[in-house]
Amino acid sequence: MLSHNQKYEYRAPGSDVQSLKEALVYKLIFSLGCPPADATRTNWLNAALLVVRDLAAERWLQTTRYLRRENLRRVYYLSMEFLMGRALSNALIAEDVYDALREALAELGQDLNDIIAEEGDPGLGNGGLGRLAACFMDSLATLRIPAMGYGIRYEYGMFRQDIENGKQVERPDTWTEQDIAWQFRRPSKHYVIRFGGNIHYQGEQCIWNNSEQITALAYDQIIPGYGTAAANTLRLWSAHAGDVFNLNDFNRGDYFAAMEKQNTSENVSRVLYPDDSTAVGRELRLRQEYFLTSASVQDIVRRHLKENPDISTLADTVAIHLNDTHPVLAIPELMRILIDEHRVKWDDAWAACGKIFSYTNHTLMGEALETWPVEMMGRVLPRHLQLIFEINEHFLDGLRKQGYDGDFIRRVSLIDEGGERRVRMAWLAVIGSHKINGVAKIHSELMVKSIFADFARLYPERFTNVTNGVTPRRWIALANRGLAQVLDKHIGESWRNHLEQLVKLDPLKEDAAVRAEIRAVKHENKRRLAEWINSELGIKVSPDALFDVQIKRIHEYKRQLLNVLQIINRYNRILKNPDADWVPRVYIFAGKAASAYYAAKKIIHLINDVAKVINNDGRIRDLIKVVFIPNYGVSLAQIIIPAADISEQISLAGTEASGTSNMKFALNGALTIGTLDGANVEILNAVGKDNIFIFGNTVEQVEALRQRGYSPLLYLENDPELHETIIQITSGAFSPEEPSRYHENLHVFSDYYQVLADFRSYIEAQDRVDRRYRDQDAWAKAAITNIAHMGYFSSDRSIEDYAKDIWYIKPLPETPINVSGGLSEVPEPPPANAAAAPKKKGK
Ligand SMILES: *Cc1c(COP(=O)(O)O)cnc(C)c1O
Repeated sequence: MLSHNQKYEYRAPGSDVQSLKEALVYKLIFSLGCPPADATRTNWLNAALLVVRDLAAERWLQTTRYLRRENLRRVYYLSMEFLMGRALSNALIAEDVYDALREALAELGQDLNDIIAEEGDPGLGNGGLGRLAACFMDSLATLRIPAMGYGIRYEYGMFRQDIENGKQVERPDTWTEQDIAWQFRRPSKHYVIRFGGNIHYQGEQCIWNNSEQITALAYDQIIPGYGTAAANTLRLWSAHAGDVFNLNDFNRGDYFAAMEKQNTSENVSRVLYPDDSTAVGRELRLRQEYFLTSASVQDIVRRHLKENPDISTLADTVAIHLNDTHPVLAIPELMRILIDEHRVKWDDAWAACGKIFSYTNHTLMGEALETWPVEMMGRVLPRHLQLIFEINEHFLDGLRKQGYDGDFIRRVSLIDEGGERRVRMAWLAVIGSHKINGVAKIHSELMVKSIFADFARLYPERFTNVTNGVTPRRWIALANRGLAQVLDKHIGESWRNHLEQLVKLDPLKEDAAVRAEIRAVKHENKRRLAEWINSELGIKVSPDALFDVQIKRIHEYKRQLLNVLQIINRYNRILKNPDADWVPRVYIFAGKAASAYYAAKKIIHLINDVAKVINNDGRIRDLIKVVFIPNYGVSLAQIIIPAADISEQISLAGTEASGTSNMKFALNGALTIGTLDGANVEILNAVGKDNIFIFGNTVEQVEALRQRGYSPLLYLENDPELHETIIQITSGAFSPEEPSRYHENLHVFSDYYQVLADFRSYIEAQDRVDRRYRDQDAWAKAAITNIAHMGYFSSDRSIEDYAKDIWYIKPLPETPINVSGGLSEVPEPPPANAAAAPKKKGK
């Protein structure tokens, strides 16, 4: 007979080598149904993931139970993208079993590096915004902040990029096929998401009828914190057509009609960023945004009501953060749930939203600001459009009462009335949030002077800055084990969660032995990358050359084209003056272009064309190599960044909100060549002007040029070397098989991002790079200075800022997490008669 609260022995695997070995074999046999002798690499990977997941699971459940018991305020981070990178290696670091597992696997005849490399890299993001969300998840858990991430479990991620004949080709990224054992499927956590239909009123009550319905199913991923007993959750939603699958069609024998309906509605979690050049693609994107926000907000409200007597205290227990405007529909969705489902009064509901929501802006570029046609929103989300109109009416009425004029009202209205009427999502985010932040100092300053100038007049107290950061666990401890060892030896191990400790390295730059160690680590990382490039791409590069790296999404504003022009110019100069003391360079590019972005794809083609000509020109004697590495993602970044000498951060001033790869590079001892844009400005302040190569026009100069009427021709006329590079490209010097390939693009291009204006100053900065590199000792000193002063750029610091100034959330105590009796406590069994009674059916 069970006694009340009886406890049972259960055992997570021990973390010593012998226990890990036994656990691996156990998982292979009993969880994966596969004897070790027959196991494939994927089997070993999944066995390892299951073992490490067991290690993390207990404290994860304990954290959840603790939060529930204490009813602590939590922050929910909503993002359409999470670029998490591989799970296994990261969890091994967090659980501190990296070396033990490597030994355990070795004794079983397996190589940990091979097993780690077997894991696909879930591409659930485009670039910086998604990777920022991932770094933040890591820091939230490490800092023991009660938090949960919400995103979409895209079945195919973004896409796999192949390069064929120099051109980008998109292939489906089938990451889910590997059936990675890291996520928990949560069949009990599901919500109905509705689209379309119509609305009418019964008295005060708004009824939403005849909608199409799909189901959002939860998949949970444990986010283990580093060096703490706390762990958080990332919950990703997957679409299921449960309610759509038409049994009538099916029973009539019309399988295809039934399946087709299922397929179109499940499309909502099929891919990231559908091609938005078509109306269908854009509508799918709107549906995705609603799918994410509705499932998440429903889940948040359900959790609150489970732990609290009623809805009135929601704003005390919940903070919701909107990572850019993509999840802004969460605001009208919460309004709908509060008003239509919980009968909260309009004013109270709106006041609650204002306390709950906060929003990060990620771009100032007008063309990147989201707006939705009123017509489309009315068709897909009729109730939400109506709520947005109501919010707008309340907002504008208030302004009119304060005496604002018609022009001002037109500018700040949620509805853009010029041309096709559109909903301005960024405006909705601003009026529905209590805090709005930019992601670097310069970006936040420009934000209140440019796009949000009107709102900054209305609500000056709402606008703030939180400079981005990156997690040192993934970007040093995992990616650069050599550097981690040098740091451990000289400054101790606590930099992993106190990155400001790096400053202790600074005086050691005067120590020749330390410089030699740092140089040896860099050389080894370059050798590793060179080997990878040779085996994967068949291009031989020397680790003794300067590795000059630009890896990021391919976009005109990031100006990969400027880099290409510089490479061509260097090629020309070497040919004219072959005996000068040239520093051999390897130029490394990687990045995806959005599938409908023609100009960006053309840049990829040009890089590969230029590479082909220069790499095969014997006269260059390997003084230049150009390598485009396909299919950029987190795992590639982890190999490439530690091997970089130069970090290319050359966006037009005023266009890159922050950048985060600039931080990862400097943290790994690369020197930046960059414009005064985004976080480059703060990196300059941190490392000092002698340890960074700044060039190009400032934001003010860029703006002045625009005002005067920017004229690219002027630069061509005044700079013969620049003129020469453009003529070469447009006349087919790099595309002899198709001389007109770049004719249309470059011949009359408007140069919106002022590439030509910065060309000369960029060339001069690159020459300064050469001069410094020739003095390897001076270079090593500068590299160490960069590493030592990057402490500020830890995502731990960013998250501390958010928690204190934006979310008002405190971390859990250091050693909380032991809810009475542990996890194995078994509840008292119900009395015999109650057990026999029929279960009450909940609706
Ligand atoms: C850091 C990172 C980015 C962001 O790069 P930026 O140069 O800041 O745009 C994009 N993609 C991946 C995979 C990253 O790791």
